[in-house]
Amino acid sequence: MSTFAIHYPPVIGESFLGYMTRLLYINGYSELRLVPQILNCKIYKSSYIPGTMDFSAFIMILAPTIELEVDKLIEFFKPYERAYQELRNIQDVVIYTPKFCPICIQEKPYFQDSWQFLHVTHCTAHQVMLIDQCPYCSKKFSDWNGYLFEGCPYCGCKWNSFEFPIIDLPAYLLASLDSEQFDSIIDTLLFTLRPNDLMFRSLQGIALPVQEATMRLETAYTLLTHSKFRNQWINHICLSNKHFFAPSFDGQSVGSLLEKFSCHFPQQSETLECSFNINIPSSVSHLSDYRIKL
Ligand SMILES: [Zn+2]
Ligand SMILES: [Zn+2]
Repeated sequence: MSTFAIHYPPVIGESFLGYMTRLLYINGYSELRLVPQILNCKIYKSSYIPGTMDFSAFIMILAPTIELEVDKLIEFFKPYERAYQELRNIQDVVIYTPKFCPICIQEKPYFQDSWQFLHVTHCTAHQVMLIDQCPYCSKKFSDWNGYLFEGCPYCGCKWNSFEFPIIDLPAYLLASLDSEQFDSIIDTLLFTLRPNDLMFRSLQGIALPVQEATMRLETAYTLLTHSKFRNQWINHICLSNKHFFAPSFDGQSVGSLLEKFSCHFPQQSETLECSFNINIPSSVSHLSDYRIKL
């Protein structure tokens, strides 16, 4: 007998966390954290990460409750490509909290799995920035809650009462990046977060809000594609560094690393219209907020 009275199969391209949230919501449960109670099972963070052992174990429990064969259910949720790379400065680039296009979610009420990537900051179909916090009360969406399909779970405002501004899509999103380019941008993004003190280990993961991710990724992409901007940036951080020498990462200067990464990209030499303005976080502890454990 199925636990869930109402159940639909997943949509192709739906995120697993989003599917579970939707499944619970149509059955009258708003919060994903109720799953252990409803299914009487243990849930770990990795239970929601396709490709892991805990995910497979969870699918075995879930499949009969929605009258779907285990293999068929697994087929819907492939492990994310490029999500995890051990040698990259930021190993895991999946964001595990809700982030979505507020217009897509009204038109087709499901969470697309691509939205969970750090670098997917905008919806290319609607040309809007994805949201990871309420545009009205500004509260961050920290939990998967079915009410997000319609509006903010905290203040109750509805997405259909907002007009989300259309904006130019960032260049890093429009470029079709190969794996090397993608990894180079993510490596560079970490340099933009702590350029004065690069002597740290790679991060396991990063929980960067969408607005800050956009700003950092734009800087990283420009550093890799515009030689003048790159040189200015390196000079800027050398001057702002109290020791007056170029910072290094794993013994290599950030300048030479950026030159190496930029070889993967076509170079533009024109001077940028935007003013040279980089907000550099100075405190080391600031970065520890971004560390997450898998
Ligand atoms: Zn959209
Ligand atoms: Zn709100």
